[in-house]
Amino acid sequence: MPERTPYVAANWKMHKTVAEAGEFVDALLPRIAATQSDVVICAPFTALSAVVERRYGTAVKVAAQNMHEEASGAFTGEVSAAMLVELDVEAVVLGHSERRQLFGETDGELARKVPAALDAGLEPILCVGESEEARDGGQTEAVLERQLQADLADVPGEALAGIVIAYEPIWAIGTGRTATSEQAQEACAYIRDLLRERGGAAEEVRILYGGSVKPANAAELLGQPDIDGALVGGASLDPAEFAEIVNAA
Ligand code: PEP
Repeated sequence: MPERTPYVAANWKMHKTVAEAGEFVDALLPRIAATQSDVVICAPFTALSAVVERRYGTAVKVAAQNMHEEASGAFTGEVSAAMLVELDVEAVVLGHSERRQLFGETDGELARKVPAALDAGLEPILCVGESEEARDGGQTEAVLERQLQADLADVPGEALAGIVIAYEPIWAIGTGRTATSEQAQEACAYIRDLLRERGGAAEEVRILYGGSVKPANAAELLGQPDIDGALVGGASLDPAEFAEIVNAA
């Protein structure tokens, strides 16, 4: 079985100006100097360049939080994969539940965005996860299967290794209510089984857990066999707290 390098990503959402982003990176880097993990900062579009410039020469990668599937066109307010690559951005969050719920991002769009990101050389961080109603109704696996089948419909098995999947139960995002390590492991193992059915590189895919990850629960969650890292929202806004999570991986 291949060794999967741990992957810890900070999802800043709509937080941090250029100045604040710079201060964060300056405070973070000395705290994670010894890490062997992939550390990724998912910054707002306006702060991407500031983070890119400060992280040169370090292991930190930079991700955007969204992109459009087309290369260019009349799509006011949107940004293409090529525009991100030009900034030396390496990854992009796709399908975050806030984009699905608040901005109407659909699985149909994601089925086009994931291959567009891969074609441009960006690493998609594809988010999937069930609502509280779905979990209570015993529909967690059905939701994950539907999302993954739809969103990866045009990704061949051998291209899977270039994708990171984030399992983010919606009921755990920003709520302080973390999935138990058993619940998170079970869902991530199920996701890996679904990827295995597609053949290709399922064993190499990094599967992250996201949902109220904090320094206090990171080690236990990240110690699960199918959890290869974390997508961290609230606790990623403070460099000391985020560094503790990185160093727990
Ligand atoms: C997220 O935004 O992806 C997230 C998991 O947020 P939080 O850690 O705040 O729950």
